Amino acid sequence: MTALRVAIVGFGKIARDQHVPAMAATDGVTLAAIADPRASLPDRPHFTTLEALLRDGPPIDAVAICTPPQVRRGQAAIALAAGKHVMLEKPPGASVGELDSLIAAAARTERTLFAAWHSRLAPAVEPARQWLASRRINAVHINWKEDVRVWHPGQGWIWEPGGLGVFDPGINALSILTRILPQPLFLTAAELAFPANREAPIAARLALTDADDLPVTAEFDFRQTGPQSWDIVVDTDHGPLTLSGGGKRLVAGGEVLVEAADEEYRGLYRRLVELAATGTSDVDLTPLRLVADAFLLGRRKIVESFED
Ligand code: NAP
Repeated sequence: MTALRVAIVGFGKIARDQHVPAMAATDGVTLAAIADPRASLPDRPHFTTLEALLRDGPPIDAVAICTPPQVRRGQAAIALAAGKHVMLEKPPGASVGELDSLIAAAARTERTLFAAWHSRLAPAVEPARQWLASRRINAVHINWKEDVRVWHPGQGWIWEPGGLGVFDPGINALSILTRILPQPLFLTAAELAFPANREAPIAARLALTDADDLPVTAEFDFRQTGPQSWDIVVDTDHGPLTLSGGGKRLVAGGEVLVEAADEEYRGLYRRLVELAATGTSDVDLTPLRLVADAFLLGRRKIVESFED
């Protein structure tokens, strides 16, 4: 089998930390080139823009778009028009509506558009979904709190419109939630805390429900120092299910059912290879829609200014 030749567009933290090692560890995929205004690797062709890479670079089959969400749609459109498969880092866009034309372009060109939700591939997520499938769910609470200075140092885009602020990590929790619960959810209320000097929230509290009034609450906070929290607790008729560590650990029915290392990005590249083989797309916008609804329904409060 010829390996899928992938170029990374946007060579920042996630590209270096996860995409490069995951590609190296996954059969059927190879890193062919990099497009980034500045960052590069010594042993791969580098171009300052995607356009230059497509014009002057080595042949590629696909791009993994790891730029900030505000510039992603335009790059995905260019790549699809050039006949390349496209993997979009999460969130798949800066708005929900901008995905429509990309989905249509992928169908027209018979290329893959893959909206990658890495947290859904955390090791305890599928076992949690299976455990919950035969239980009655009474309530859900999400606690997703991390230190923005540790995880997003100097990332100015995260505080701009379309950068999502605390929903940048929070959407990972929503991507897991919407995978493990069998029924669709919708948002009923939100409170968004905006630093006085920023255009995106630093904290958020959400209330969601389903057609049967299931109570679901979520707290997202970027100001957490010390221990970090990436936890989802589901209260069921068989006791609580706790998914912690962002989906690495599962405790349910009083037992530790999963405690495993993170291989989320290898799973994403396996899926990309599979999808690209047939030019099939995989674009689930449910988590992004919930975030958009939080901005629609959110009561805004202004809090202390934030400096990096
Ligand atoms: P980042 O460190 O700021 O990296 C973004 C990179 O894209 C930077 O090197 C930036 O260059 C480059 N870039 C900006 N505009 C570009 C353009 N038009 N063409 C090519 N490159 C461009 O951000 P990140 O943390 O990697 O996050 C990127 C995306 O991945 C975000 O949507 C985030 O949600 C997602 N993600 C991040 C993490 C994480 O832990 N950080 C985890 C999972 C997913 P300059 O810096 O020179 O502008």
